[in-house]
Amino acid sequence: MNDHQDSKLSRRILVGGALVAGAATLLPRFAAAQGSAPTGAIPPGNPPSTAPGTAPRLPPPAAKFPEAARPSAPAEINAATAPVSIAHRPLPYAENALAPYISANTLATHYGKHHKAYIEKTNTLVTGTPFAGKSLDEVVKRSAKGKQHAKLFNNAAQAWNHDFYWQSMKPKGGGAPTGALKERIDKDFGSYEAFREKFIQTGVDHFSNGWVWLVLDKTKLKIVDTHDADTPVVHRLKPLLTTDVWEHAYYLDYKNLRKDYATAFVDHLLNWDFVSANLG
Ligand code: FE
Repeated sequence: MNDHQDSKLSRRILVGGALVAGAATLLPRFAAAQGSAPTGAIPPGNPPSTAPGTAPRLPPPAAKFPEAARPSAPAEINAATAPVSIAHRPLPYAENALAPYISANTLATHYGKHHKAYIEKTNTLVTGTPFAGKSLDEVVKRSAKGKQHAKLFNNAAQAWNHDFYWQSMKPKGGGAPTGALKERIDKDFGSYEAFREKFIQTGVDHFSNGWVWLVLDKTKLKIVDTHDADTPVVHRLKPLLTTDVWEHAYYLDYKNLRKDYATAFVDHLLNWDFVSANLG
């Protein structure tokens, strides 16, 4: 992320599909100072280190990904002087489990090449630096604090965002939530149908690469989008759900029809169980 992109992102946080001018003031770009970690979302990558004074967190991802099931670090990174600290965790389902809405071909490329590359690059960039050995969650938050770490932030945040994205989907997902979550959606969006329309449209309207999120802003559910690698984790927003609107997420299956991809995500893949777990 260069300076131009960084300032652009700070200005262009979209809340509920509406541009919030001066969002950098409301959502400090570098809110990840130690001791003021902003969210309790399930952190992808390594288990988080819990510093005194940090916000309460959900159980670490080990609950979903037992330690024994985690792969060892990629051999190509573990060579020579590059100790690996962040693992490329397994998908929570088979590569063909989301078909026909997301094909095995897309997941093989997206998870197996794009996500893997972000993990590998992050591990390379932290080698020999004070970031070495830190959890992915920590690397994202700490590298967001200075433009000199922009390259590391972009790769680490993309690694984090993708891990969160895999968990945001499940086979036979989608549709309206039930119970307390339905009441919450109704309260903050008016209805499930209004939430659905806004989430899809935010994805359609997002210019170029980025992410669409359902987040908790203090006590209110909101839909926001972020550009490039930017992530709510560093904006004092608690991520609950995300979908990837980079072209590599859908182009093999949907070509340029991003609305069809966003609609399939909401109607057939969205993992409300993950949202509920993140809400606590
Ligand atoms: Fe992606």
